[in-house]
Amino acid sequence: KKNLIIFGTRPEAIKMAPLVKAFLKQSGTFETRVCITAQHREMLDQVLSFFEITPDYDLDLMTPNQNLYSLTADIITNLKPILEEFKPDYVYVHGDTTTTMAASIAAFYSGAKVCHVEAGLRTFNKRSPFPEEVNRSIAGAIADYHFSPTATSKQNLLNENIKEEAILVTGNTVIDALQFSAEKVTSETYSDIEIDALKSVVDSSKKLVLVTGHRRENHGQGFINICSTLKEIALQNKAVQIIYPVHLNPKVQKPVYELLEGIHNIQLIDPLSYPAFVWLMGQSYLIITDSGGVQEEAPSLGKPVLVMRETTERPEAVAAGTVCLVGTDKSKIVTEANRLLNNTEAYSEMSTLHNPYGDGTSCQKIVEFISKL
Ligand code: UDP
Repeated sequence: KKNLIIFGTRPEAIKMAPLVKAFLKQSGTFETRVCITAQHREMLDQVLSFFEITPDYDLDLMTPNQNLYSLTADIITNLKPILEEFKPDYVYVHGDTTTTMAASIAAFYSGAKVCHVEAGLRTFNKRSPFPEEVNRSIAGAIADYHFSPTATSKQNLLNENIKEEAILVTGNTVIDALQFSAEKVTSETYSDIEIDALKSVVDSSKKLVLVTGHRRENHGQGFINICSTLKEIALQNKAVQIIYPVHLNPKVQKPVYELLEGIHNIQLIDPLSYPAFVWLMGQSYLIITDSGGVQEEAPSLGKPVLVMRETTERPEAVAAGTVCLVGTDKSKIVTEANRLLNNTEAYSEMSTLHNPYGDGTSCQKIVEFISKL
């Protein structure tokens, strides 16, 4: 059986890397090739090198003024010769990016079976300013097989009349990736200059609060509130160190550096490579973020997460109690952060909860499912 695994952004690469590895281990049964659209370039390459994956095809599509029209067209057009030459039986796409949507259309045209990994997430708001909900819905409408991280995402697909036998609940492959990575970055033989540099930033006598934020819905007033909140937490808790790898988007950089630079227990640093970020999550006490992936990862390392969003397409984490949705309202974030920083019982309760996003066996489940077809 021939597999073609296609992805284009950093989060997709992280979540598809363990699947690539799992299929490559079964080389007697599967011929597996990897195609990257490189919708994001540098951050994607870092992830591939960490997971020791060399793509077979690199469409190299990132351009300075990328727009959705040309990106979608370029992905479909550039995949055609690859699909025609390799003739995969199965094409794997992940999540909700333009690569996901366009690659599923191209794969469908080629006649390959389309397998959607991280299938069935829904916000039910297709008219939001962002294309993700429509991207994942299109991939879902096209896919022949749907690998859903949770029962909730499976139910969303059943509600769209997808046949039950085409859906497998696997947990999220991000946990497979995290387990591999957490072990690799803490092994004695692993050396990484970024992690060495971080070791001199982390003050091990303090409780480390790790912060990330990049979401467009928080640009403007959202980030102003977030910064003023972080300042208050830092000033109220002298035994806390906040480390914030600041996203490179100027709409994030400007308010963050203007409002938070120079506070002695807040360290603003550049965005981290995935291995360094995994290492830092491992060192942290509490994580405050608006990232989707981090909400899924952190509970596997026993780290409570406060989510600075009003809504989430990850309701399982909220229901399981591993994350707490705090919006960008200052008083709510400060209250929850202080509760976790100062109430040991509340902290240990939240940090020992079962992660609803899986146990690191998602890729094995996908390989077994495809092997039986
Ligand atoms: N991440 C990283 N470096 C950072 C911040 C995040 O490698 O400085 C990783 C993180 O572990 C997670 C992924 O990037 O796997 C999440 O990406 P992001 O927050 O950009 O996107 P989202 O998950 O919100 O789509």
